[in-house]
Amino acid sequence: MVAAILLCLAKIPTLCIDPGHPSEVGLGTRGRHISEIKLAWQVAKRLEAEMKSRGWRVVVTKHSEGERVTNRKRAEIANACHADLMLRLHCDAASGTGFTVFYPDRQGRINGTQGPSKALLKEVRPIAERFHESLSHELRGFLKDNGLKSDIRTQVGAHHGALIGSIFSKVPVVLVEMCVLTNRTDESKLSSKIGQIRLASALAKTCAATFERSRTSGAR
Ligand SMILES: [Zn+2]
Repeated sequence: MVAAILLCLAKIPTLCIDPGHPSEVGLGTRGRHISEIKLAWQVAKRLEAEMKSRGWRVVVTKHSEGERVTNRKRAEIANACHADLMLRLHCDAASGTGFTVFYPDRQGRINGTQGPSKALLKEVRPIAERFHESLSHELRGFLKDNGLKSDIRTQVGAHHGALIGSIFSKVPVVLVEMCVLTNRTDESKLSSKIGQIRLASALAKTCAATFERSRTSGAR
């Protein structure tokens, strides 16, 4: 009886998955055989299924692979569902290899809007650190870890002070560049079904671990 009451009182966590592009920033990058849009969408759908099976409430910022949603709107969708975490999925175009996690560490500004709030900046840092630590552990031996970095290390973030999706976010947000899609080895790993399942599973375990540690530490 007590256990049942405790179960009822336990908050169902909400994950907002944001598969990158198309947006006002563009169509993203592409490899030789798969686009960033397709890869982010496929990983998002696999992650959605896995998180639902873990009992999470999941909101995805797009209804279909090709749907164009602005980055402001994506943040507003995460805000509206009071997500415990907004997870943005992208792929990099660069000379290196592997994954990178980005988070806002200062306020940015776009069209007169400044954000995220200072309270959210304080909240998101330990969440991003836990998220990166867990993902690094889960992906060891599969994808190279390029570290946890500030939004300002991205092209858009360098211009605005933070990523647009971070500026409008009122919930903790991290962005994962899942791989370097212009790297042939990365592309071949993540365009395969088995590679996508491995990545989605690593992301699911990471979201669960991040939320569990946030809850036990009383951070959120
Ligand atoms: Zn992108």
